[in-house]
Amino acid sequence: MPPLDEYIEEIRDLWDSRWLTNSGVKHNGLADALSRYLNVPYTALFTNGHLALENAIAAFDLTGEVITTPFTFISTTHAIVRNGLEPVFCDIESDHFTMDPAKLESLITDRTSAIVPVHVYGHLCDVIEIERIAKKYNLKVIYDAAHAFGSAAKGIGAGNFGDASMFSFHATKVFHTIEGGAVTSKDPQLIERLNYLKNFGINDDGGVESIGGNSKMNEFQAAMGLCNLRYVEDSILKRKMIFERYTENLKGIQGIRLPQAQKDVKPNYAYYPVVFEDYKYNRDEIYKKLADENIFARKYFAPLTNQMVCYQGQYTEAVTPNAEYISERVLTLPLYAELSLETVDEICMSIKR
Ligand SMILES: *Cc1c(COP(=O)(O)O)cnc(C)c1O
Repeated sequence: MPPLDEYIEEIRDLWDSRWLTNSGVKHNGLADALSRYLNVPYTALFTNGHLALENAIAAFDLTGEVITTPFTFISTTHAIVRNGLEPVFCDIESDHFTMDPAKLESLITDRTSAIVPVHVYGHLCDVIEIERIAKKYNLKVIYDAAHAFGSAAKGIGAGNFGDASMFSFHATKVFHTIEGGAVTSKDPQLIERLNYLKNFGINDDGGVESIGGNSKMNEFQAAMGLCNLRYVEDSILKRKMIFERYTENLKGIQGIRLPQAQKDVKPNYAYYPVVFEDYKYNRDEIYKKLADENIFARKYFAPLTNQMVCYQGQYTEAVTPNAEYISERVLTLPLYAELSLETVDEICMSIKR
């Protein structure tokens, strides 16, 4: 959290203006500041990441099937299904756990209208290959970039790929606005449509041409974002040190696979995922043993979204062996800017013990 005094200073003018929501000064200031920080042309803010994604998908008036991956937070699949679309699950590649473009093309049918890939753990998808395939079949690409705040490929910010990208500013993410989210795009008309959709479909003249809900970011959320944005670079640097400390401690241990750097990608060090393969204990045993010592790692993502009760047996059975393999073996270790390096050492000692 930012220093309390700084947040109080940031919200002080709201007591004068009495302008609490609906595109206020803080909201518009944050949208501009984020466009600059993320190095993207346009940003539409939302009250949370999930509704940002749901609205982004809605804005394209898609039909039929949408190809996505099951190795993600449940929100991605829900956002597709809540738009009346059918998710088709593509496998992930096993180095960085993002959609495997080599397995994508065979899933495309004449009912496919879009692809929703996920930049897992702040790693970027193979955006070039996905774009090539999308162009060939005239498909929209909407990235779930919830994990990718501040990540970039060859200097190009994560929010520049595909037709649109969704970011989450939930309290648990690298950058937060308590709850919050955004859609970035190079298409100003899409951003305008999203800004209407998030406010009941009401346009600048007061007319209503589209059927929107209410998913606006309020001024208090935006003020939190303005404060946190001042510290995010520092926070990513601290994460990097923690990330590297984990690697120093855990490298070279038989049966523990550590996160791989991606060529030409600047990551945001959002997560430290460890894959336990043929280690002395399996993932679930390690999870439990760590919890017994008050170390709360997360089985992130397990189960796969298509294995959740609400989706079991609903769609054509997915063939996603890599996703299943990783989901059964991965654990994300504690990682937040204030985590001390000494605590990282202790966590690693526990794992080794
Ligand atoms: C956090 C997250 C979301 C949802 O964002 P909220 O801001 O929590 O609504 C969607 N997808 C992924 C991959 C996430 O990690």
